[in-house]
Amino acid sequence: MIDQSLKKTVLDTFLKYIAIDTRSSEDSGTHPSTDGQFVLARLIADELKTLGLRDVSLDEHCYVMASFPANVETETPVIGLIAHLDTSPELPGNCTNPQVISSYNGEDIALGNSGIVIKARDDAYLREALGHTLIVTDGTTLLGADDKAGVAAILGLLVYLNNHPEIPHGTIKIGFTPDEEIGRGADLFDIRKFGADFAYTVDGGFIGEYNDETFSADEAVIEIKGKDIHPGYAKNIMVNAIRIAADIISRLPKEMAPETTDEYQGYLHPRSLDCCISNAKLKILFRTFSDGKLVEYKNMLNKIIDEVSKLYPGSDIKQSISETYRNMKTVIDRHPEITRRLEDAILKAGLKPIRKPIRGGTDGSRLSAMGLPTPNIFTGGVNAHSLTEWQSIDALVNVVEVLKNIVIL
Ligand SMILES: [Zn+2]
Repeated sequence: MIDQSLKKTVLDTFLKYIAIDTRSSEDSGTHPSTDGQFVLARLIADELKTLGLRDVSLDEHCYVMASFPANVETETPVIGLIAHLDTSPELPGNCTNPQVISSYNGEDIALGNSGIVIKARDDAYLREALGHTLIVTDGTTLLGADDKAGVAAILGLLVYLNNHPEIPHGTIKIGFTPDEEIGRGADLFDIRKFGADFAYTVDGGFIGEYNDETFSADEAVIEIKGKDIHPGYAKNIMVNAIRIAADIISRLPKEMAPETTDEYQGYLHPRSLDCCISNAKLKILFRTFSDGKLVEYKNMLNKIIDEVSKLYPGSDIKQSISETYRNMKTVIDRHPEITRRLEDAILKAGLKPIRKPIRGGTDGSRLSAMGLPTPNIFTGGVNAHSLTEWQSIDALVNVVEVLKNIVIL
């Protein structure tokens, strides 16, 4: 049976948070990348203080941290719970006109007057949400369930534990981060100050899903110098950097692209190209689950560049490769008790644990590499980064249940 008062708490909290525009920005050089994130961070910091959490802090880079003290004497691990404040830069983030469907009946869902319809037949998760309370947008903004569902679930847990002091638990550390969507969420995360032995992000996936594995990711930047001259007098003189870049791209294996791979397959992905005749800058992303494969990809690209250089005498091609993040699994596998605790918590909530690799990175990939093992827990949000994003509030209650089972003794 679903706890109706908890359901109302998470629903109200969720609706309050999604109205605040916290979209981050790739183009900003500041930390946080946008001021909107502070509006939500301040609100949450106040709520944490009201709930009686200790050491509530909001720093100048918009990280919110707090501690929910243990109510038992026994020694227990200090568990961290983390969610991110920002929403994707791609779409407006102020969902001030959400639609609440109180008991979903299985039909298509029209989003306001936007003409956008979520088709029940195309959305397998919708079929699992019959009878649930769903929140959708009016088709003009993101919902922001990624990751305000995670934030609302953590707040829901704290309200619940506050109302139930008889439930024994150890110390819980709470962290809310800015700029996850632009890959900077972990940049200024102070693990020592946070003080957890391990943590969980609450950041996406449908009911029962969890992730202890992400891509390992690198980025290659290729800078090409050509030679420009009036095309009328170019014979044997011009070296066209645009052609060279195109030649390199055309040699990348088509069967190793994001658009042709899934599950455990990796890819090389030309992500951006700025070019004119005299110079070009090409960025290629490497994504794979194994660090060994990253070396293979690097060799593959070196070979392509060697071949292409020979075809364009007078050109100059330089490449540099930088690390973006690493598969969290290498770290988490050393601590099997962290995923075991999570699986047990999902089972105890009456759900089926579904382990899924993430074809991307999370704050947890970076935090794990920095020394804080951090797998990810589902939120029940679907269609992230899209106008058709939707959230099941029943699923969100499930999340709180799982979080409770994680921290309970
Ligand atoms: Zn997210």
